[in-house]
Amino acid sequence: MVEKLFRKDPYSDSCKATVTSSKDGEITLDRTIFFAFAGGQQSDSGIMGGFKVLEARVDGPEIRYKLEEGATLNEGDKIEVKIDMEKRKKIMRLHSAAHLVYGVFIKHTGITKLIGSNVTEDKSRIDFEYQTSLLEMLPPIEEETNKIIEQDAEIKTYPDENKPDRWWWECMDMKYPCGGTHLKSLGEIGKIKLKRKNIGSGKERIEITLV
Ligand SMILES: [Zn+2]
Repeated sequence: MVEKLFRKDPYSDSCKATVTSSKDGEITLDRTIFFAFAGGQQSDSGIMGGFKVLEARVDGPEIRYKLEEGATLNEGDKIEVKIDMEKRKKIMRLHSAAHLVYGVFIKHTGITKLIGSNVTEDKSRIDFEYQTSLLEMLPPIEEETNKIIEQDAEIKTYPDENKPDRWWWECMDMKYPCGGTHLKSLGEIGKIKLKRKNIGSGKERIEITLV
C-alpha cells in the first residue's frame, strides 16, 4: 500500500521514494506526493526519477504511474518524485473553494443533492439536482463566499477514526468527507467568481474560477 504523503503535507513539492513494482511502463511506489485523480480532483503533473509521468490512477490501495516512453525504472530503484507545484496550488485553491461554495449554497437553497463535482487547475465545478435556475442567486452567493474567504478561517484535514484511508475536510461549521489536497486556510483561495451552466432539466452546474 502506497503512503499518501500529499494528504499530510499537500505543500511539499518533492519526496524520495522506492519503486515497488515496474511493469508495462507503469510503476508503483512505497510513498508519494503525486496525487492521482480521485473524488473529481485532477491528477498532479510531474516527474519520477527524471521521467515524465503521463498518467496517474488509483488502483485499490496503490497508485499506478504511467511513465513516458523509454523510461527505465525497476523495482527497488530509489528515486525522487517532483510535482508541478504551481498547478497543485491552483488545484488546492479551487478545491477548497468548491467545498466552501457548496457550503454557502446549501445554506441558501436547502440543496443537499450533489450529483457531481470536478476540480482542475483552471476551474472547479459542483453539480446540483435543483428544479429552478440558480442564476439569480449567484451574485449574492459569490459576494458572501468572497467575504468568508477574507475572514481566513483555518481548514483542517484529517483521517477518519475508524477508517484511516477515509479523510475529512473541516472548516468553520462545514465538514465533508474528502481525500483531496487542501489549503491551510481560506484566505489562500483569494477571490473567486461564479458562473452557472444548465446541464439538463433539473440539473444545475456552478463553475468556480479564480479572479
Ligand atoms: Zn473535496
